[in-house]
Amino acid sequence: MRFVTAEHNQKARVGILDTEGKKILFINDAEKARSEKEIYPSSLVECIALGDPFIEQVNDLVDWVQTSGNMDSLYIPIEEVKWLAPIPKPSKNIFCVGKNYAEHAIEMGSPEDIPEHIMVFTKAPTTVIGPNETILNHHLVTSQLDYEGELAVVIGKKGKEIKREEALDYVFGYTIINDVTARDLQARHKQFFIGKSLDTTCPMGPWIIDKSEIINPNRLNIETKVNGEVRQSSNTEKFIFPVEEIISVLSAGMTLEPGDIIATGTPAGVGKGFKPPKFLQPGDQVEITIEKIGTLTNKIQY
Ligand code: MG
Repeated sequence: MRFVTAEHNQKARVGILDTEGKKILFINDAEKARSEKEIYPSSLVECIALGDPFIEQVNDLVDWVQTSGNMDSLYIPIEEVKWLAPIPKPSKNIFCVGKNYAEHAIEMGSPEDIPEHIMVFTKAPTTVIGPNETILNHHLVTSQLDYEGELAVVIGKKGKEIKREEALDYVFGYTIINDVTARDLQARHKQFFIGKSLDTTCPMGPWIIDKSEIINPNRLNIETKVNGEVRQSSNTEKFIFPVEEIISVLSAGMTLEPGDIIATGTPAGVGKGFKPPKFLQPGDQVEITIEKIGTLTNKIQY
């Protein structure tokens, strides 16, 4: 299932996208039609924290709607909603793995930059925006805004010292992130945080697909286009550190919680890797497509 957060009647709500991608079923509307109760929390993070029973309950609810004769009134056309990031306000910073594809590590420096251990930085929660929202150009603080298409893992279950073999049990699902980066700030301040945390520099979405639909997250095509031109084209099988290892290493001494988001790194082909560099310009459109998930599209502010 594809879990979305969208605004309808001025309220952010949790819903399921239909198989054609044209309509959204808001789960509390459906539950109200079935039982006259709104039993689900209003945010997707709180729903995710309900654990595996949540997905089973929603599956059951969707089945009920499809046989109840209420489909037309409960499924809302996507044109009538405002899309938000599936997790519009993460409760903590987004974890980001750096240099997780060898060719990207090389384009950013040299073969010596291929990491031996997982490299992790974070992005502030205030960076998050939804699909089709505008990425601010930040022209007063940077002239080197760059894109990074990435698979993001959403944690579904609290855990610490998670073993590699059990790591995927702790995943709720997957989404797409654009780890937009101000390269000049990233270099000037040594630590990545400022260059990675400008407002609006973490487009996310358009939805979270639950893990039952992606058996192996380490084998997915990933592609980024800027104004229709393919810049990044790779597959997550090129990860230096697969998803299981990332979860295991992060959780070795740190508790992971439902709704935590881990961006898994970007393949080769970022703007900085070209000679001369191809940084993002006002009005540019960035589209990131990941196999089995979908496409995340955003434009840079004029
Ligand atoms: Mg990145």
